[in-house]
Amino acid sequence: MEHKALSSILRYFAVRDGRLLIGGRTCAEIAAEVGTPFYAYDLGVARKKYERLRAALPDEVEIHYAVKANPHPEIVRFFRDLGCGFDVASAGELRVVLDAGANPAAVGFAGPGKREFEIREACRAGIGSLNVESEAELELADRIAGEEGRRLRVAIRVNPAYELVGSGMKMGGGPKPFGIDQENVPRLLARFPEWPNLGFAGFHIFAGSQNLRAEAIVAAFEGALSAVASFLPHCPNAPELVNLGGGFGIPHYAADNELDIEAVGAGLGELLERHRPEMPRTRLVVETGRYLVGECGVYVCRVLYRKESRGQVFLVLDGGLHHNQAACGNFGQVIKRNFPICAPEKIGGEPVEEVNLVGPLCTPLDRLGSKVEMPRLDAGALVAVMVAGAYGFTASPRSFLGHPEPGEAVVEPPRRQGRQG
Ligand SMILES: *Cc1c(COP(=O)(O)O)cnc(C)c1O
Repeated sequence: MEHKALSSILRYFAVRDGRLLIGGRTCAEIAAEVGTPFYAYDLGVARKKYERLRAALPDEVEIHYAVKANPHPEIVRFFRDLGCGFDVASAGELRVVLDAGANPAAVGFAGPGKREFEIREACRAGIGSLNVESEAELELADRIAGEEGRRLRVAIRVNPAYELVGSGMKMGGGPKPFGIDQENVPRLLARFPEWPNLGFAGFHIFAGSQNLRAEAIVAAFEGALSAVASFLPHCPNAPELVNLGGGFGIPHYAADNELDIEAVGAGLGELLERHRPEMPRTRLVVETGRYLVGECGVYVCRVLYRKESRGQVFLVLDGGLHHNQAACGNFGQVIKRNFPICAPEKIGGEPVEEVNLVGPLCTPLDRLGSKVEMPRLDAGALVAVMVAGAYGFTASPRSFLGHPEPGEAVVEPPRRQGRQG
C-alpha cells in the first residue's frame, strides 16, 4: 500500500542521486558531524510551509507560531524574521522567544496552570496578552499587576460550546481544563471594572489540534467568531485581538491526505467578510505549531544490528522512543501506526522486504515502525523518520534509560538555488 504521508512529505525535500537532502546536505554528511541519532530541521521546508500558509490566509490575519511544537532557538528566530508572533505556554518558552528578539506585544501566553512567577514575568515583559483560563487566574493576575505597578493585558481564553470535529487532540468543548466555559464569559466580562490593573485585550479560542479537514476547521472558526460576536455587548472595550486558534494538521499516516489549507483560507475570508462590520479594528490571529515545523524535521538513526526472529526481520537502531515518542505511537495516539519512514541514502530504491524498526530500550514500546517496506539495510545504514519537527525532541522522555541525547542540526539550504525536488 502506498504510504500517502511519505509521498507527501518527500515532495518538500530535495533528493540527489537517491539521497535525501536536508538543507542541501545528505544525512551521512550531517551524521559525520553530529553523530547519530540526530534531529535535523530543514528551514527551506519550514519556509515553504510558512509561505503556503501566508498565501492561503487573508492578508489581515496574523500568524502566531506555537512554540511548544519546537522551541529550538534558531527555529524561533527564523519565525521572528518571517514576521510571526508567538504563543507560549510557560515562562521558559516566554524567555526563549524574548531571547530570540520577539516583540513582546506579539506574544500570547496560554496555559491552565500559570504560576505566580510566570504571570509576573509576563507582566514585566509587557506581553500582548496573558490568555487567562479561569476566574481565579484573573484575580491573581490583577493582584500581581498591581504589585508590579503595571497594566497587564489579558485575553479571555474561551472553552467553546462546540468541538472541533475530527481533531486529533480535542482542547475545547465539553468539560475541559482549558479556558473559561463560553456560557460564563459574559459574567466575567462584567467584572473587569473590579480589576483596575488588567487591560481587556480580547479573546483566545482554541478548539483542537491536528485536523486534516478544511470544512471542520472553518466550522470551528465560524463558531469562534459567532461566540466573540455574542460577547461584544458585554466587553469593557472593543476587543483589540482575537486569536481564533488553528488546529491545522499534517499527514502522519499511510491514509492521510494533506489539509487543503487554501480552502481553510478561503472559508475564513468569507467569514471575515460577514463578521468584520461587528469588530472593525480587531486584529485576528491564527496559531499553529506542527503545520509550520512538523514536516521540516527528520529524525535519523543508524542500524546497530540486523536480526531475524521467527521469520521477521528486526533492525535495531541507536535511537527510538526516548528521542521520538510520537513516532512510536505514545503521544496521544490511540492506534499505533507507522510515521513516514525511509532509507535516506536509498530514496527510490525498490522495497525488497518488510522490517520492524526498534530502538535500543528494554521495552516493547520502543518501536518506530512495524512491517515497514524497505530496501535491504544492514548494520551501519541510516534510517530516517520523517515528520519529526514538531513534538519530537522536547516531547520525548530523553532521560529514560540513560542513553545519550540526540544531536540537533538546523540547516538552511543555500538561498536562490532554484526549484528542487
Ligand atoms: C498546542 C497548542 C497549539 C499548537 O498546536 P499545533 O497542533 O502544533 O498547531 C496552539 N495553541 C494552543 C493553545 C495549544 O495548546
